[in-house]
Amino acid sequence: MSDTRTGPGFPNLFSPLRIGGITLKNRIVSTGHETAMADAGGISEAMLAYHEARARGGAGLIVAEVALVDDAAVFVSHPIKVTSDDCIPRYRRLAEVVQRHDCRLFGQLFHPGREIIDSLDGSAPVSFAPSAVPNERFHVMPKPMSRDDIARVVAGFGDGARRLREAGLDGAEMLASHGYLLSQFLNPRVNLRDDDYGGDLEGRLRIFREIVADIRAKAGGDFVLGLRISGDERSHEGLSGAEVVAACAALAADGGLDYYSVVAGSSATLAGSAHIVPEMTMETGYTAPYAARIRAVVGKPVIATGRINQPQIAEAILAAGQADACGMTRAMICDPEMANKARTGRPDDIRACIGCNQACIGHFLSGYPISCIQHPETGRERDYGRREPAARPRQVLVVGGGPAGMKAAAVAAERGHQVTLYEAEAHLGGQARLAQLLPHRLEFGGIITNLTREMALAGVEVVTGCRVDRALIEGAAPDAVVLATGARPRRPEIEGAEEAHVVDAWQVLRGEVNVGGSVVVADWRADWIGIGIAEKLASEGCRVRLCVNGYTPGQTIQQYVRDTAIGRLHKLGVEWISYLRLFGADGDSVYFQHTTSGEPVICEGVETLVLCQGHERVAELETELEGCGIEVHMAGDCLAPRTAEEAVLEGLKVGCAL
Ligand code: SF4
Repeated sequence: MSDTRTGPGFPNLFSPLRIGGITLKNRIVSTGHETAMADAGGISEAMLAYHEARARGGAGLIVAEVALVDDAAVFVSHPIKVTSDDCIPRYRRLAEVVQRHDCRLFGQLFHPGREIIDSLDGSAPVSFAPSAVPNERFHVMPKPMSRDDIARVVAGFGDGARRLREAGLDGAEMLASHGYLLSQFLNPRVNLRDDDYGGDLEGRLRIFREIVADIRAKAGGDFVLGLRISGDERSHEGLSGAEVVAACAALAADGGLDYYSVVAGSSATLAGSAHIVPEMTMETGYTAPYAARIRAVVGKPVIATGRINQPQIAEAILAAGQADACGMTRAMICDPEMANKARTGRPDDIRACIGCNQACIGHFLSGYPISCIQHPETGRERDYGRREPAARPRQVLVVGGGPAGMKAAAVAAERGHQVTLYEAEAHLGGQARLAQLLPHRLEFGGIITNLTREMALAGVEVVTGCRVDRALIEGAAPDAVVLATGARPRRPEIEGAEEAHVVDAWQVLRGEVNVGGSVVVADWRADWIGIGIAEKLASEGCRVRLCVNGYTPGQTIQQYVRDTAIGRLHKLGVEWISYLRLFGADGDSVYFQHTTSGEPVICEGVETLVLCQGHERVAELETELEGCGIEVHMAGDCLAPRTAEEAVLEGLKVGCAL
């Protein structure tokens, strides 16, 4: 018989870990990440509910998000600060809600330096850095820090740590990762100072040592203190792996740090920032070798973070000795119960993160509270964190087996309703089945796997290959119907199209059409589809021109996903032209109008025009059911075509409303 207290399949992951003077019950860490849930500069009720869900779900350690140590520092419009004792009561509440689940809580002490994402009031703030070296990504030129600036920041770290300790947190980490202020001091290409805070490694580490000393003096020698650092910033002029290892070895020799938390990437460039929250094109667990190299020189526990989305991957990293604990942050954004499920022998029930970046970092960078496209309960814990049993079990018929219908069916069944889901196709998944066929998007199909499992666990009856009409519904006589019938490709009127070879993205993905050697992709929506079709056809040897009705290909998708994809398009030689509105085509040309100048733009020598013109809703059944007296709900693209995120969210809302 297996021991479910320690996790039958994960002996390393569920063994305790000693860090400094404390013990974690397991090696699963929710690492520091911005939630955009701050409330008037502090920890909000939404944030308490968010972190408590992960603590309740079995995490061994939660590291609360970055807290500014200096009032002069600006990073985002909704920061958390540890610059006055006013922060203590709210941190104390966070410690209470996390620690009551036998989960430890650390804080994160932070100064962004020249990395300014946002502003407090719309005007550009003064940013501070070791030297006046500009930031490429945010186009920021910082003020070189005076010695007084440095002294203020050093004291801010120490004061912040003291406040976190007074609030009852178990520890804190200094953030030196991702090209932020401490990384800027360490980096000889960014730190050009000629005083004793620059120059050789000893000079560039001076501020680190002063901060460690200040924290130890103010928060005590026994307060757990760690360092978060990128094992390689993977960035133009970023810190190299060798530079980081040398710095960690030097700091470890001082003995002031209790652990190291290793990530990858840098905020300073588009290429480097893609590693801050690595998306699905990056291999799972790819940062573990960086952690291993640091672990080899520091003699202290090391946390590895980066696309560790499943307990099996974490277990393998720990078993190989690459790290002592694993950051599984998005794994728990996507499934707060991930740790409990792994520990109790239910790994197949885990809703695995697919690395889409859409609603977690995507929301944050847009200024909205983080969530998850697969688990929209995240960030909405107070409204949807627990399933309320239905007052009266009812018969529910769901039409459509895409993400909206599957989520609605699963949630309704979890609440006690008897649910039957009908799908017209032979397989579940709807548009997610096509989305996974785009280059490098295979993992997107995980949303189908996960929702199928949720439905099975909830006891949903599934009927595939059956098109539903009014007669079927009247025959089944359900108490309620959920329409989640999705969308079809939009084929707008195109002048002269009858003379041209015109196909749509769905036909290309399904392999239903031949495509000529010279292709124009007319991309109205500027999302994954235009980019993906262009990449697919260019990889197959076509000359591809991607004509976008927007500023850039991928304008509407998450930045790291877009930037990585644009790099691939560039390597493949795809030409792209922005600001183009499609209006016509003929035998070998496609005609556009520039969206701001109004001038014509003509692409000549075109064999095939591929339309990526968005979708139109499939909602005929809504009209058919008018006046039939049955309660009807709708969710997803049949309401208005959008993305899987809105489909799953609306499925959740309908499932809860029934
Ligand atoms: Fe993972 Fe996507 Fe959910 Fe983010 S939104 S946690 S990347 S599945």
